[in-house]
Order: sequence, then structure tokens, then C-alpha cells
Amino acid sequence: MQRPRVTAKLLKIFLLQIGLISAVTAVGIYAAALVAEDLLVNQALQGEADYFWQRYRADAQATLPNSLNLLGYLGDPAQPEHTPAWLRGLSIGMHRVSHEGQRPIVHVSQQQERVLYLVFDEEQVSRLSLFFGIVPLTAVLLVLYVLAFLGYFQAKRALSPIVKLAERVQETQFGDGGLQALDVTDLRHNADMETDALVDAIEGLMERSAQFIVRERNFTRYASHELRTPLAVIKGSIANLQQLHRDEKSQRQLQRMAATVQDMEALLETLLLLAREENLQQSAEPICVNDMAALVLDQLRVSLPQPQVALEQKNSALLQVQAPQKLLGIVLTNLIRNALMYTPQGHVRIQIDAQGFSVEDTGIGIAPQDLAHIFDPFYRGQASSEKGYGLGLSIVHKICQQLGWHISVHSEPEKGSCFRVDVTSFMPPA
Ligand code: ADP
Repeated sequence: MQRPRVTAKLLKIFLLQIGLISAVTAVGIYAAALVAEDLLVNQALQGEADYFWQRYRADAQATLPNSLNLLGYLGDPAQPEHTPAWLRGLSIGMHRVSHEGQRPIVHVSQQQERVLYLVFDEEQVSRLSLFFGIVPLTAVLLVLYVLAFLGYFQAKRALSPIVKLAERVQETQFGDGGLQALDVTDLRHNADMETDALVDAIEGLMERSAQFIVRERNFTRYASHELRTPLAVIKGSIANLQQLHRDEKSQRQLQRMAATVQDMEALLETLLLLAREENLQQSAEPICVNDMAALVLDQLRVSLPQPQVALEQKNSALLQVQAPQKLLGIVLTNLIRNALMYTPQGHVRIQIDAQGFSVEDTGIGIAPQDLAHIFDPFYRGQASSEKGYGLGLSIVHKICQQLGWHISVHSEPEKGSCFRVDVTSFMPPA
């Protein structure tokens, strides 16, 4: 599941703020308009009406209100024709009346058989509420928007080194040497405490991993080197024993010991090759996979005879690779030997095309729970043969990785397996 980015969350908060501020302001403006009309105008007109009736009671000839915004009409219900037509028939209270394209507010009150109509110019109210309400509110709104944006901008800026660090880590492929490719020193520039702590931790981790890789390489190199001598001694002693004990039983045992020593020598040589730091592809001559496969098949036909299994090679193209001959031999031998070992009957077929090669068998297949681990060192599947240490495929995987090749496997229990090595589309690691 793709998690949301921190910056996207910030943007969401910013937009939410803007939305809420706008909504609250709109409600505020609407409420202010209602208060202005219903409370203020109503009260003012009621006051005007009371004042007029007070004067009217003292003097029946009292002048009606007549100013720029307020006009008064005194009507007599007995003689409605003296009242302007658009005011006739209005009940007591406040009204909005359409008149000559305007909608003035009309306050109607009645005393002593007379009806007072107070007409208030609505446009004036709108203009006033615009100047004293909406304009300052808009200014406040703009200031709030700017403040919210500044908050968003500052928060984004404060988080930006951490976001950059996360992006850098995300871009890095943590394969062989991936950690060394992760350079985060430039993020120290203007960094805050948290970024500094993260950069420190990553740099420390990189240094320790680099030391670990060197230590591991040196150990493999020295151990393989040191083991060569005792193996040579054992090999010499077996040869001597083969001269001394010529009976068939001893010869068989000694032959098995000699074959095992040879396997161990080959393993040591592989480990030594892999422990070298140089670029394996650059230091190698081009080599033909088709020829090498034919050679390995011939050797395995002799050392691992399987009369029930057809061992075939199918060439759809001539494939040349830049790799040490020994390493290509190890890859092919391990894959084909495994295929033969785990195939009681049917066929084992190596197919070579312009992109790579595959070793396919009709054997016992690999259980789904084993499939994810077969390239792990010392991992042996549930149905593994008696012989073996679970190292073959992990060495093949390591060689492919070092040569920039890609190995994949498809397998179905009881049906067979197919190991595929692609050599072209994968660039070797720098
Ligand atoms: P091992 O020495 O056990 O053969 P490998 O590393 O070569 O070690 O193989 C690891 C495991 O993968 C084996 O134990 C076996 O279970 C499984 N395996 C490898 N190749 C095949 C194959 N062609 N068919 C079925 N299982 C296989």
C-alpha cells in the first residue's frame, strides 16, 4: 500500500484550514447581514415610529420623517386612495416591498385610526454593510489566507531536509555496494538537529557495513587460502593410499574421497574468485555459453549418469558473455547437476538464446515454501538429495549478482523446475 507523503499531508491541512476559514467567514457574513437587517434596522425603524406617534399625539399636523434614507407616509384606512398604491394592504410589521426596481424595507404601525408607513432605502443599508462589514472581513480573510500559507510554507521548509533524506534512501538500491552509493553529506548544509541525527546514523551504518564487507571478504580469502594446503596434503595422501591398497573395496572408498576433495578444491577456488574485489566482467575474455554448456553436459554425463533422463541442449542463438570461464562453468554445472539430481525421469534441457539461458527439468519440483529460500546459503529444500550442503544455488546467485546477470526460477511440485539466467538487460553493478 502506498503511504501518503508528509508534504501531501501538509497541503491537505493547509487546504482544510483555508476551507474552514472561508466557510466560517461566509457564515459570519450571512449572520451579520441578518443581524443588520432584522435587529438594527428593525429597532431603528421602531424607534422612528414611536418618536413620530409621540409627536403626532401632541400635534396632529406633526411632520412625517423625510430624509435621504427614510420616508414616511400617513395613511387613513377609511380613505385608502390617499395612500400610495404599492403600500396599500400591508399588515402591521416589517416588509420588503418591490418598488421601481428596488426592494426597500417598509415598517408599518397603526395608532388612532391612522397607519404610518416608514420606507427605508435598502440600498443604503447594503452599501453601509458592504463598507463596514464585507470589506474589512475580506481584508481579514486575506490576512488569514496569507498566514495559513506562510505556516504551510514554513512547515514544508522545515521538513524538506528530512523529505530529501527519505527520497535519497528511496532512490538507493540496496544491492551489492548500494549503501556506499548513498551519499547524504550534502544534507548537512543548514540541517536541523533531527536531520543531523539521521544523517549521522546513516553514515555510521554505511561505515560499519563497508568495514563488515571488507572483513567478510578478507576472511573468505584467508580461510580459502589456508584450506588449500591441508587439502593438497589430503589429496597427496589419497594418491599414496591408492597405490598401497589396490583391492576393489579400498579403491572405491578412496575414489569417493578423491572426488570429494576435488569438489572442495573447486568450491575454494570459487570462493577465492568471488572474494576478489575487481570487476569480474572487465577482467574476463568473451566466452561462448553454447560451447561451455556442451562441455559441462559431457562431463556430467560421465560423472552423474542418469539413464532414465534425456540430457539435451537446444541452441536458438550463439551467446557470448564477458565472464571468467570458471564462474560460467560453476553456474552451468550447479544448475544442470541439480536438475539431474532432482529428476528421476523425463528430460533435463538447457536452452540458449540471445538474452540468456535456462535449465529446465521434469523433476520433483520445488515446494512453494522452499522457493523463496533456495538461493539462501545452507538452505536445503524438504525433498533435497542426500549429497550437498545447500551452497550450490547461493554461489550461483552470488556469481550472477557479481556479473550483473539476473537469475529467476519457476517451479511446480511433481512437474519440474526451470532456472533462467538473463545476461543482457542487466548492467553489472559499478
Ligand atoms: P543442495 O546442495 O542441497 O543441492 P543447492 O543450493 O544446490 O543445495 O539447492 C538448494 C535446494 O534447492 C536443494 O536442497 C533442493 O531442495 C532445491 N533444488 C535446487 N535445484 C532443484 C531442482 N532442479 N529441482 C528441485 N529442487 C531443487
